[in-house]
Amino acid sequence: MLALTRAEIDLGAIRHNVRLLCRHVGAGVRLMAVVKANGYGHGAVPVARAALDAGASWLGVASVAEGIALRDAGLRAPILVLGYTPPTLAAEAIRHDLSLTVYDVGIAREIGRVARVLDRLARVHVKVDTGMHRLGLLPHQVPHALAEISTTPGVHIEGVFTHLSSADSDPEYTLWQVQRFREATAGANVMLRHVCNSAGTLSYPQAHYDLVRVGIALYGLSPYAPLPPASPLVAHLRPALTLKTVIASVKWLPDGARVGYGGRYRCKGACRIAVIPIGYGDGFRRAPQNFGEVLVRGRRAPIVGNVCMDQSMIDVTHIPEAQLDDEVVLIGRQGDESITADEIAARLGTINYEVVTALTARPTRVYVDRT
Ligand SMILES: *Cc1c(COP(=O)(O)O)cnc(C)c1O
Repeated sequence: MLALTRAEIDLGAIRHNVRLLCRHVGAGVRLMAVVKANGYGHGAVPVARAALDAGASWLGVASVAEGIALRDAGLRAPILVLGYTPPTLAAEAIRHDLSLTVYDVGIAREIGRVARVLDRLARVHVKVDTGMHRLGLLPHQVPHALAEISTTPGVHIEGVFTHLSSADSDPEYTLWQVQRFREATAGANVMLRHVCNSAGTLSYPQAHYDLVRVGIALYGLSPYAPLPPASPLVAHLRPALTLKTVIASVKWLPDGARVGYGGRYRCKGACRIAVIPIGYGDGFRRAPQNFGEVLVRGRRAPIVGNVCMDQSMIDVTHIPEAQLDDEVVLIGRQGDESITADEIAARLGTINYEVVTALTARPTRVYVDRT
């Protein structure tokens, strides 16, 4: 193993989570594994393969580039590009059999023209903005737009969908969004209707429609944090990612010794300081807060001094057995202790999604199967 600092991804956990979610939605509902942003930092291609293997039938990505990367890796499942695709990217998208999100009649027509030049049909999913107020047609525009797009040469409407803004936290608003979706698409004759992200999938079975688009839950993380899980299923999800490294150096320093750039930390009494080869170049954040603590020999050790680009220092004075080459866990379990992405997110003032997605390309992704 060349990499000291690595993100171990348990593909068995991904499969377990997909099977759990497939069972939850039932046989009549398909599952789209959302693998945008390099599979939320876990690696899009291996996660996609594991998810398809365990029962997912669609893949979701943010952009045409992400979709093409999956095709280039040999994945043949249907792929929906969830973000904006301009007509200039339509030819490449169509050649790679990507389904595209559209919310504009003019763009749908241009995509249709491109498809006809290629002698192909562009598959599109019409996006409805029911209250997220990000991409999508407003509900009153939907009947007219669907009529126009459905008669546009070169375009086939494969789906119509919306995105929930508050399925983790606000039932009233969520049910209102679902209701608006139902009304806006009442007369539509389309193959696939879809509404739910992870929180929607777990909390709103009545909104599953034909397909659910699951991201964070696939990776074994709660879509509800910092709130307590609103679905008992969350307790059965298995986090797939463990971030770990090793101790690169350990030494005693005298009372008052300054540690790291700027000498921000000063030893109080003699202290034993270890160096770990991970820093903000790996996504191990420096400011305004760092990750706080790491695990050594199953115990918590505080990060001291400023996190550097490639290295950080931890205080192991209270862990006398700690020695060179010991395993250090930054996210995950070690012995009886664990540090979750949720815990780190709470410290950083963000959500677990950002903690895992912010890992850079440098920590080597190592794929394991613990089932
Ligand atoms: C990212 C995304 C999802 C998945 O959301 P999770 O909360 O991670 O399940 C679903 N739909 C759309 C449109 C998205 O952008």
